[in-house]
Amino acid sequence: MRLDRIALENFRNYASQEIVFDPTCNVICGENAQGKTNLLEAMVFLSVGKSLRTRFDRELIRFDQEGFHLEGTVYTRNREYVSRIDAGFGKKKRITINQVPAKAATDLSAVLNTVFFCPEDLQLIKEGAAARRRFIDASLCQLRPRYAAALAEYQRLHEHKTRILRDCADRPDLIATLPDFNLRMAETGAVLIHYRARFVKLLSVCAATAHSECSGGREHLEIQYKTVRTVSDPFGDHKLLVVQLLEHQREHHYAEISGRQCLSGPHKDDMEVLLDGLSARSYASQGQTRTAALALKLAAREIHKEITGEYPILLLDDVLSELDPKRQEYVLNRIGSGQVFITCCEEDRLHSLLKGNVYRVKNGTTVLQ
Ligand code: ATP
Ligand code: MG
Repeated sequence: MRLDRIALENFRNYASQEIVFDPTCNVICGENAQGKTNLLEAMVFLSVGKSLRTRFDRELIRFDQEGFHLEGTVYTRNREYVSRIDAGFGKKKRITINQVPAKAATDLSAVLNTVFFCPEDLQLIKEGAAARRRFIDASLCQLRPRYAAALAEYQRLHEHKTRILRDCADRPDLIATLPDFNLRMAETGAVLIHYRARFVKLLSVCAATAHSECSGGREHLEIQYKTVRTVSDPFGDHKLLVVQLLEHQREHHYAEISGRQCLSGPHKDDMEVLLDGLSARSYASQGQTRTAALALKLAAREIHKEITGEYPILLLDDVLSELDPKRQEYVLNRIGSGQVFITCCEEDRLHSLLKGNVYRVKNGTTVLQ
């Protein structure tokens, strides 16, 4: 898969711009605050219909403007697609694919897929479970529409149940509605666990290979999926998963009501990253943390290739310069096939390492060199 062209209008600091890309490598360089990350953000938006940096689309609209448009020309599965997004204040965003209105933002993932890696991704290893869950969710949502639908439904139920738990002290009648929510959350939660267990297993294999190659074969990386305690086997059948999730909910019924929060369910899932058997979160050095985070991202890319037959486009924001020369070389060799977009600062001189197009970004204008 490749992104051949992007058009941005009133998106972040871009007024109106059309850019044509190289099928292999695109280096985007410029000084700070010129629009490098904004450009990658636009690509992510074209693949998932939302931003990774903000929850609110309105922040993406160029200051003093009414709305933004994004258009991407993508080549995948032997044909060309044009995805288009129109968003504005106070109106629902409109998405079309080859001029046909899309039903949901997730339809964009049927056309363009991205793997995005930025310095904050080191949190994947060092921070709490939320960053790792976001990573699993983002990868799976692009791969499995059924997962994306189940996740949206689960989040909706979770929000609703949280509101009930918050309000039920004043309105005890609401407690009667909990069993229905619990059952529906167990049903959809079981779907999430089914997909996550399989994804993390594949991730463990692919990330171990990437980490081992990157560390010169010295370290072994392993990933374990952590879910609700009563689930005896996350690969188990759906009915059994539901029963075990309901059992956990029952155990936490009173604690949920007195604590006024939802304590039971896969919204607390995590994956543990181990280096030579030790928790990376507690023990990994800075170098090991970077290597492990990179291994996770490259593994997600491999899994995508394995399942769909095509590499998603790889977006590396400001990360290559942080790696030592050996790891830089490893990443660049690993990319091999597939299209990549790399941002860097002027002084990095990264473009001398790479073949492909070099673009300079200045104050929201991108020029091919
Ligand atoms: P760095 O090297 O520091 O990471 P960058 O080139 O990646 O810089 P971006 O994150 O792309 O920089 O942001 C560039 C500029 O875009 C910022 O100065 C920011 O103020 C501006 N910007 C962000 N949102 C908007 C918006 N809605 N309208 C206009 N400008 C915006
Ligand atoms: Mg940036």
